[in-house]
Amino acid sequence: MSLLASDTSTPTLPRIPSKAVSVLSKKPSNACFGGVVTIEVGAEKKAFVIHKDLLSYYSDYFRAVFNGSFKESVVRKLCLVHEDVDVFDIFNAFVYTNQLRDKNGVIGKDLSTFMLVRLWLFGEQHLVPALQNAAADALMERMAEYDKSPFSIMTHIYALTIDGSPLRRLVIDSQVHRAACNKDHLAKWPQEALVDLAMAFSDRTPTSRKGSKIPVSHDKCCYHVHSEGEHC
Ligand SMILES: [Zn+2]
Repeated sequence: MSLLASDTSTPTLPRIPSKAVSVLSKKPSNACFGGVVTIEVGAEKKAFVIHKDLLSYYSDYFRAVFNGSFKESVVRKLCLVHEDVDVFDIFNAFVYTNQLRDKNGVIGKDLSTFMLVRLWLFGEQHLVPALQNAAADALMERMAEYDKSPFSIMTHIYALTIDGSPLRRLVIDSQVHRAACNKDHLAKWPQEALVDLAMAFSDRTPTSRKGSKIPVSHDKCCYHVHSEGEHC
């Protein structure tokens, strides 16, 4: 019987089929607000007390941790020592409010690009598709408003994602269809990102040019993580 789990024993789960909700408009039922569990985050072990079934509703990772396949396995506390408290604080707010909001009340697209990318990556690692999709939407809104791509963190994004990742596609497409290319920035990009950028430019239609919006056919679900058959 285990009462304490650690993130050093990350369960290996298939991404599809997923039980975690991926459509932001779907809300959890009252049944999600039963028992609670404690998650200690970061080296300082900041404790978050969260409804267990709410975590399971949003995350296949946390469902696996707190609803293990062995009946005798009862986990009430999880330590995520390598996670960032600020990122987890926004995730905690998200499962209760369906909104990306930090401790200072900064919301959605007004969060920093770096924070939105970190939230997306947290969602990837902990199998929280709705969080990834909310972060992707906020990134798209942010890039549209400020008319620039997150070029300065391409190395970070490419180091932590795999080929075909929706996050990679989102930032590459935004570079192709929206932001101006900057030679100094491109010189710092990883080679894989430059290849993706070249391929995306070669696929560009005559009507989509620098300064235009991402083509209508690229609806935001292009950059979402959904289970098969699910769509916003
Ligand atoms: Zn979608």
